[in-house]
Amino acid sequence: MKSGSGEASSTPALELRHVSRRYVSAYAPEVLALDSVSLRIEQGEFVAIVGPSGGGKSTLLNMLGLLEFPDEGEYLLDGFLMPGREGEAAARARSTAFAFIFQAFHLLQSRPIRDSVELGLIYRGVADRAAAVSGALGRVGLAGREEERASHLSGGQQQRVAIARAIASNARIILADEPTGNLDSENARVILAELQRLNDDGSTVIVVTHSADVAAAANRQLRIVDGRLVSDTGWQKHAANQVAGSVIALEMPSGDRDVKAMHRLPAPTPPKLGVRDIFRDAWRSVLSRPAQTTALCVAVAIAVALTLTTLGISTSAGAQVSSAFDAQLNREVTATWNSDSELFAADLDDIPAQTSQIAGVDAAAGIADFDPVSVVGIAQARVIQPHTYSGDIEAAARLTVRYPSWRGGSHLVPGEVLIGIQLAQLLELSSLESGPVVTIDGGDYQVAGIIEQSPRYPLLQGEILLPAETPGFDDPKTTSAVLLTAAGAAPQVARQVQIVVNPYLPETVRVQAPTDAEELRGTVEQGVRTALIAFSLLAIVVAVAALTNAMLLAITARRGEIGMRKALGARSRHVAWLIAGESAYIGAVGGMAGLALGVATVLIITITQQWTPVFDLRLGPLAVVAGIVIGVLGGATAAVRAARIRPADTLRQ
Ligand code: ADP
Repeated sequence: MKSGSGEASSTPALELRHVSRRYVSAYAPEVLALDSVSLRIEQGEFVAIVGPSGGGKSTLLNMLGLLEFPDEGEYLLDGFLMPGREGEAAARARSTAFAFIFQAFHLLQSRPIRDSVELGLIYRGVADRAAAVSGALGRVGLAGREEERASHLSGGQQQRVAIARAIASNARIILADEPTGNLDSENARVILAELQRLNDDGSTVIVVTHSADVAAAANRQLRIVDGRLVSDTGWQKHAANQVAGSVIALEMPSGDRDVKAMHRLPAPTPPKLGVRDIFRDAWRSVLSRPAQTTALCVAVAIAVALTLTTLGISTSAGAQVSSAFDAQLNREVTATWNSDSELFAADLDDIPAQTSQIAGVDAAAGIADFDPVSVVGIAQARVIQPHTYSGDIEAAARLTVRYPSWRGGSHLVPGEVLIGIQLAQLLELSSLESGPVVTIDGGDYQVAGIIEQSPRYPLLQGEILLPAETPGFDDPKTTSAVLLTAAGAAPQVARQVQIVVNPYLPETVRVQAPTDAEELRGTVEQGVRTALIAFSLLAIVVAVAALTNAMLLAITARRGEIGMRKALGARSRHVAWLIAGESAYIGAVGGMAGLALGVATVLIITITQQWTPVFDLRLGPLAVVAGIVIGVLGGATAAVRAARIRPADTLRQ
């Protein structure tokens, strides 16, 4: 049976020439794992590598499979000298020529077994994979079980999946490291039969084993002790086959025996691995670990939500600040003049009528300040500054005044007084409803109302306001026009008010107005926004750091899987793309969750603050992009580390 596949070939499938491999580590003495080993293996051989533990068997197998590289000596595949280190040529050879079967199976544990079998074909660049996958699974007795998770299968079944992967990828050299080491004798027999049949179909099978049965089934034994090839039986072409043949007859369903023919075809040049395949693989990988994926998505979602919340709040708060400015501060203009310069200046009585002619004035009042006088309640007395007023003082000075319920309106007549709430308390006035009376500078006045709030002139809460015509109050120290303007009209009003109240000596009138309301408003808005944006950036940095940490931990747990992917021919960049793709998916899903969370938070905050929520529609896509950016940044370190994983280090167990 073998005659066509190896015997006549002058070029061996594999050849080692004086190959040595030493392991140097900072923590242990140097080990010479292979010591000048020379070896030729023909296509179609079934070789068992035996010997004591630590002798160098796995190192030799990995060397043959291009997972390890010689420090000295040469390696030839089909007569071609291979580069002595990891690279494109080695990865390509792994994906096209070799299949690996390990004691620890190395399947994609939480994914359907179809994915594990398909992986070899993906990295080989095969586009049409479904038929090969189900055919291979059928050949190892797992027909129709494509969707079962690897972790739900027994050890024997998992190893059959690994063999199906070798069958599907049509590898002509099968490298197996203790393939029956984790199996009971019954399952071990089945796996041996599978290997036997692969060999029977033309594949070269090289197996490291401690099992006497496996060694006996092979038709050549290599014995490795202390890194040296101490014995080699050579190819015993007839003896072993009978044993194997009987096993096959016992265990195997009849299969396609024509694989040999395919092996003679030139190895296809792998087409470029499709981005779609990588991303589909990444998506399935992310889905197969729901708990971990959810935790990572939550980390991204929190960062995105924090960012959106701070941006949303800063926009809403900014709008709030603006409307506060528009509503109040930048609408206030006060013009004040002294009594000694009151020549030509408007009388207190005339101020409202004159100033309300200025375009943009919404409310106008006059107010005059006098020297302090004594104010006496029932039991207490205080010395305070009195003021007289004219016009709509409540609107212009934004006063909140409480009147007794029996009082008709807010118009005061001489003999009446408005008292600030603090002064009313100090004087221990009786209830407003009972019509209390105070004595001001010797005269009695009826308390007409209590000034409860006075945001523009806070001192008024401790003072008194009398109507302009009150006798005895006609020699003020200073007089002011108190104006409230339309939004944005304050600067304009401020420029005109001096001329209006004193056309002859306008310079004696001092005007108080927001100098540049727009600029002030901008400064405040910018301040709020800068602080919140700094906060968002911090949230993103924290999320990226958390994600980096979590992804690195995940990679450590997946070293075996990544090693296997590389053994199947994945290039370093494919591994990096896989991890980056997984991170991007996590970021995108986290971004969407963060969007929902952020919008909800902004709504809750603005509603409880009684602000108007302001959303920029661009925040939606921005959230998803931010999530992806956070994901990719957080996965970058892990991707680089994963890409650097050396398969030989991770596959032994
Ligand atoms: P076997 O498969 O026969 O048990 P190995 O090939 O695994 O032997 O190992 C041969 C020797 O090389 C052992 O002494 C082992 O400790 C050492 N060795 C194998 N891999 C490494 C490594 N990555 N770093 C350091 N020493 C190693």
